[in-house]
Amino acid sequence: MVTMDFVSGNTGWIEVICGPMFSGKSEELIRRLRRAMIARKRVQVFKPALDDRYSTTAIVSHGDMRMESEVISEPSEILAKLDWRADVVGIDEANFFGHGLIDVATKLADGGKQVIISGLDTDFMGRPFSPVPELLCLAESITKLLAVCVRCGNPAKHTQRLVPSSELVVVGGADAYEARCRRCFEPGVSKQEVLEFARPRAVAAEQSR
Ligand SMILES: [Zn+2]
Repeated sequence: MVTMDFVSGNTGWIEVICGPMFSGKSEELIRRLRRAMIARKRVQVFKPALDDRYSTTAIVSHGDMRMESEVISEPSEILAKLDWRADVVGIDEANFFGHGLIDVATKLADGGKQVIISGLDTDFMGRPFSPVPELLCLAESITKLLAVCVRCGNPAKHTQRLVPSSELVVVGGADAYEARCRRCFEPGVSKQEVLEFARPRAVAAEQSR
């Protein structure tokens, strides 16, 4: 893994941590932000308001590591709320921010900030999921994490959606998604019989309406 720890002075850059759900992206983001804090750097963290799965004010990994963050709805709010003394800017769940994040991340890095971004690189159909693919091209450092396929145990690069929806963004955790490898991935919604004990809550709620 390429790390940018040796860089000194006021040079900004972009680090992207990508991969499917359950691959440890938020944990890796939190780990890097903690290291920056230990190095006495000023750290500011942002996350999208859309992602309220575990907490409304902290970035939280599925493994329950957490770090306080500022909640925003638009990427432009990062610039508006930025403490310009910050050395490091962490951004979680980049996939929820859309195209506007590309310009914001570039401005931050050009302005001398160390920008660390975490997000999904592909969507529920397995397609590149903007803005992360564009950010990978602009980044100095890229880390692609893999999860474990819940069906066969192989390294998994896909986020399998388990609830029926054609929407690009459906916020959910283990009740709505699981990690699958290339071979086991079913673009769109899994056709497997839903086991009663694993029945997604979102579907149950929809049907009880
Ligand atoms: Zn598999």
